[in-house]
Amino acid sequence: MAPAKVSVGNAEIISLVDTPMEFPWNLFFPNNSPADFEPYRGRYPEAFGPAGFHTNAVCYAIRSQGKTILCDTGIGPGPIAFLGGIRGRLLEDMRAKGVQPDDVDIVVHTHLHGDHVGWNLSADGAPNFPRAKYYAPQADWDFFRKALDANPQMAQVIPLHDQGRLELFSGELTLTPEVTTLPTPGHTPGHCSLLVSSGGEGALVTGDLAHHPAQVDRTEWSSGFDTDPAAAGRTRAKVCDRLEAEGLLAAFCHFPEPGFGRLVRLEGRRVFRAL
Ligand SMILES: [Zn+2]
Repeated sequence: MAPAKVSVGNAEIISLVDTPMEFPWNLFFPNNSPADFEPYRGRYPEAFGPAGFHTNAVCYAIRSQGKTILCDTGIGPGPIAFLGGIRGRLLEDMRAKGVQPDDVDIVVHTHLHGDHVGWNLSADGAPNFPRAKYYAPQADWDFFRKALDANPQMAQVIPLHDQGRLELFSGELTLTPEVTTLPTPGHTPGHCSLLVSSGGEGALVTGDLAHHPAQVDRTEWSSGFDTDPAAAGRTRAKVCDRLEAEGLLAAFCHFPEPGFGRLVRLEGRRVFRAL
């Protein structure tokens, strides 16, 4: 099993698993035939499950300059009816990996989909990360607030705003001198990634820049959950080019866990090489 923790200069990134998930291919990738993915099965066997696309809801904790930053909060305790009654176990996995919920100084959301905000609040409405300041992209807040009936996950976000714990941001936000948000729109209007730079090393926590590792090669393949598939494809192409060119470590939260790897070129194709 690949390590759950990596160092980036003086910073550290810890992969935290909320839950595995499986989706029918044509639900997750409605513009592709499932056969499109078959050539990638040998390289990425863990992304293929018996019922379809096999993925995970993974979150990342970043330790930087004395701060603990939690990037995304998973699908939540569930049970999630439309995913077969699955239940997340983020808090349990955090404790097992030495990250206590009370340690978290900052919670930052790459975007406001339901599998990224699920553990914000406990059942009684108190924050699960009581010391943390929460951050969310302004453009996602504006977008999802417009249609609350279709976006029940906002029940995990709006109360934080009412409690004065949530700050909305746009563009590049400096969380510590080593960790900055990078706008990567398309999957959602305000989608962002986190750039970690320390001691001459770099990493990108990508959020939902891509879901299946085949998409680092076929950047134009979009998930049915991309709100603007064309923009998502352009962003994916641009950021994957950068990851490959700069040799940055990447942390892809929906790739086979723990999601750490680099984009490299093999026989003319770009591949995700897990650590
Ligand atoms: Zn997601």
